[in-house]
Amino acid sequence: LAAEEALGRLVRDVPDFPQPGIVFKDITPLLADPEGFRAVVAALAEAGRDADGRPVVDKVVGMEARGFIFAAPVALALGVGFVPVRKAGKLPGETHAVSYALEYGEAVLEVHGDGLVPGERVLVIDDVLATGGTARATVELVGACGATVTGMAFLMELSFLPGRATVGDVPLTVLTVV
Ligand code: IMP
Repeated sequence: LAAEEALGRLVRDVPDFPQPGIVFKDITPLLADPEGFRAVVAALAEAGRDADGRPVVDKVVGMEARGFIFAAPVALALGVGFVPVRKAGKLPGETHAVSYALEYGEAVLEVHGDGLVPGERVLVIDDVLATGGTARATVELVGACGATVTGMAFLMELSFLPGRATVGDVPLTVLTVV
């Protein structure tokens, strides 16, 4: 099963959620389908490998909450550690924090200061690239740890939003553009 086909069949559009005018991409049918879920995780993990299939990253970072669902199995597939980027106040240790604008609202993201080692190469994973605010904040957090985002991978890119421009020149993998 190809990842793009799985996404086409198993991601549901929910109009006016969480606010009027937003068409929410609901990934829960995909998560409930083990073949589709597996295909998508495998395709995302390719963003962390070279042409010979060897891992080229030291850590995988995922953003709360839906990013966690994909980033953790990608980290296991690559044989590297997983580091969570969380909403403010959830991480118990010393953190770096960045505030950012959402497609709907505003928020603060944090990462443990010792979650990444200076010099590490990081693959960032999330479900949807919308305005790019979340992704950009995550690039900043990784940089604050002295590590480098060497790739980002998303299930979906919303083509009518400027996410790609917002994240800048980080190598980007998107499984499907909607
Ligand atoms: P951005 O910061 O505007 O790029 O928004 C991306 C973040 O919002 C990601 O963490 C997504 O999980 C979430 N997001 C934005 N739009 C949607 C959507 O339509 N479906 C699911 N998540 C979304």
